[in-house]
Amino acid sequence: MYIMGLLPAESAVVFSLSCMHLKCLLGTKHFIELASSPEHTLALLELLALDLPNQVVCSACKRLHDMKNIRRYNSATAHQYSSFRFPKCVSRDRDNETFAVTSLFGATAFKMAIKRYHQQSDCTEILKVMSSKAAKTTEREEYLRQSREECRVIQGSLIQRKQSVYISRISSTATSMNYDTPSAMICGHIRFTPSQHNASSAIKRCHKCRTEYRVDFKYYDGHGLAIFITTWKDLGTGPDTEVWKQHLPSYFLSRLRARILGQLQADVEVWSKDGGPAFAFGNSNHDYRFDELLTVSNKPELFRFQKRSLAKAKHRHYTMTTL
Ligand SMILES: [Zn+2]
Ligand SMILES: [Zn+2]
Repeated sequence: MYIMGLLPAESAVVFSLSCMHLKCLLGTKHFIELASSPEHTLALLELLALDLPNQVVCSACKRLHDMKNIRRYNSATAHQYSSFRFPKCVSRDRDNETFAVTSLFGATAFKMAIKRYHQQSDCTEILKVMSSKAAKTTEREEYLRQSREECRVIQGSLIQRKQSVYISRISSTATSMNYDTPSAMICGHIRFTPSQHNASSAIKRCHKCRTEYRVDFKYYDGHGLAIFITTWKDLGTGPDTEVWKQHLPSYFLSRLRARILGQLQADVEVWSKDGGPAFAFGNSNHDYRFDELLTVSNKPELFRFQKRSLAKAKHRHYTMTTL
């Protein structure tokens, strides 16, 4: 009883759970104490999760989440589970605007990938859900965008690479993009702008988050100018870290507010090592093929899409002029 009095509530509960006789002897005092404290509840879940390899603790829902339900905790796929209540962690991801980084996963999946990595280094199955290796082609303003993204855990940090290519969907001979530029956010701090059109191809860094990026251009006869944008992001070792939060719009808005109110002591260091996420991913200025996205199957699909869009635009133009 004396030892129990020295333990935090969560440890006392775990101790009493270790033996039926002890549980009867110690009663429910520590359970009641624990139930009234969200911090102690989370601490208990963290202790239990140590022995549960497929479960992670969710601080928003204050529950354990099973890795096999990973899609339930992502805002893009949570609606498939409409018979259940919408998880609080998904709402929190929306409030934090995690879609600025990706729509494929949120904080819970991030935690699952890191836990699996520390258990067996191979977290391929979870990373597959968090990646879209097959390219998707979509319309964006006056442009067509083809893109794909991939996540890897490297030395305990989640690294994401996103590759996109833009071509015009209203002209097959565009040679410049000085207007109607496709709006592409490289990170929460940098937006692709026309002034970058003549920039040299090299990997650059944002100094407010761990994002590296590269912008390249290539002209395709019969299709016009294509813009290639690649981003590599070091998302950190977990969703509770500053490194992850630096990528979220909600975080830099709160820091901006704190700065205005004079409550911000100092900026958090962003880059403390030489090798950035591009290097960790195995890419460098010397050997990165910026157009590798346009594989033998992706390229014809993008150009087919453009042909259809051009035909539609031509038809619209003809209808307008004959009215
Ligand atoms: Zn949750
Ligand atoms: Zn940034």
